[in-house]
Amino acid sequence: MRRDDFPILRREVYGRPLVYLDNAATTQKPQCVIDAITEAYQSVNANVHRGVHFLSQKATERHEAAREHIRKFLHARSATEIVFTRGTTEAINLIATAYGEAFLREDDEVLLTEMEHHSDIVPWQLLQQRKGIRLRMIPVTETGEIDLAAAESCFTPRTRLLCMAHASNVLGTVNPVRQLADMAHAHNCHVLVDAAQSVPHLPVDVQALGCDFLAFSGHKVYGPTGIGVLYGREDLLEQMPPYQGGGEMIARVALTGTTFADLPYKFEAGTPDYVGSHALSTALSFVEETGWEAICRHEAVLTRYATERLQAIPGLRIYGTAAGKDPVIAFNVQGIHHLDLGTLLDRLGIAIRTGHHCAQPLMDRYGVEGMCRASFAMYNTMEEADALAEGLERVRKMF
Ligand code: PLP
Repeated sequence: MRRDDFPILRREVYGRPLVYLDNAATTQKPQCVIDAITEAYQSVNANVHRGVHFLSQKATERHEAAREHIRKFLHARSATEIVFTRGTTEAINLIATAYGEAFLREDDEVLLTEMEHHSDIVPWQLLQQRKGIRLRMIPVTETGEIDLAAAESCFTPRTRLLCMAHASNVLGTVNPVRQLADMAHAHNCHVLVDAAQSVPHLPVDVQALGCDFLAFSGHKVYGPTGIGVLYGREDLLEQMPPYQGGGEMIARVALTGTTFADLPYKFEAGTPDYVGSHALSTALSFVEETGWEAICRHEAVLTRYATERLQAIPGLRIYGTAAGKDPVIAFNVQGIHHLDLGTLLDRLGIAIRTGHHCAQPLMDRYGVEGMCRASFAMYNTMEEADALAEGLERVRKMF
């Protein structure tokens, strides 16, 4: 669907048509996003916020319009709750640092899940070293779902924050965020949602999810690299100290001390990526014009079809079989190393990802060093799922 909007999909690799199935790592960009970047530099480029001149005002209008668009896209109450970051990783680091400073004391507990991406584990381990907090992990079941019965018993009177992926970048599982958020709030815990893998595939409503913080990356939702978003509940952001110091985030600086800017600027030190914010807004408009119903339907049909084709391959094991999953299929083929599989498929023009997928605790959970992962986007086709299955059969016969 909308394949013609993505110029890179017309290229070949090794003389074969590109079959791009690494969308969970990053998505390709539609022409309108590429044009938005070029046009911004060609006709509206100027630093935002501080300028009184025409171009600066135009650039500022666009940047703030993008923020308002993202507010609507996420159903946040106020644009002051939308902080621009470099991506999901920076958003989570911001929370670990600033929330950690304001709300966490030695021996307080942060609860993670076994399916978290490293970017939702390592910032908490760094905080553990700095502040002596404790980390606990909610286990994942054999089918790749959060063990809800075990989750309840992971909360203790010291648990302050639950951090969870909305959708797993490996298993594809879409977690019951509302149910877990209600559980967390009943234990007086705040909730951070890593929405890097859900925002590209389903409508995300921060109020309906009941989360306190949520992060996503522009590049995974057809937008540019280097820009992402942190949503944070205003009353919590207000209580948190700045993450970084510099221009943009101050109200008044004197050598004796500084007062900070209002939200969200308090968390946006330095020149923001105002071209990126505009291009991200363009990408979100592209998604909205395409329509969630059509995107969800297409990706679900494609994932079901690809799963059936892969399941028919002898010795192939799929990890993550939850109902209603993201368009992600992680697998291994008996007797073939995942890196060999990925390399040989690449020679057929098929791009998949291999390795630990920045989720080594999850690899440990399944007792493997790595997996192959095919991940789909709106522009992938049934023929590409066939190409993957046929490519896998071909590689299998080499061993
Ligand atoms: N969280 C999840 C679930 C992801 O899949 C990823 C990227 O793969 C990230 C976080 C990190 O995103 P970024 O590298 O854009 O900050």
